[in-house]
Amino acid sequence: MEVVRCARCGVFFTSGGYVCSKCQSKDDQELSAFKDFMEKNGSNCNTLSEVCNETGIALSNLNRFLDYEGLKSYKKLFN
Ligand SMILES: [Zn+2]
Repeated sequence: MEVVRCARCGVFFTSGGYVCSKCQSKDDQELSAFKDFMEKNGSNCNTLSEVCNETGIALSNLNRFLDYEGLKSYKKLFN
């Protein structure tokens, strides 16, 4: 089994994915908040820090979300 480190709390786990089971619901919540925000306001934001301020989602998590399938198209907005 592959051991991964949770992208949110740093704990090691083996269940697959980016975050541990304890962080999963919070991560899902933030991911959908981010998607929502980008659909409504994405074109008004030039930097990830703006998104961070508006949504309260940490920059490290925003950067991770941008690498997810389906969200990569947003990545070019922040270059
Ligand atoms: Zn975790």
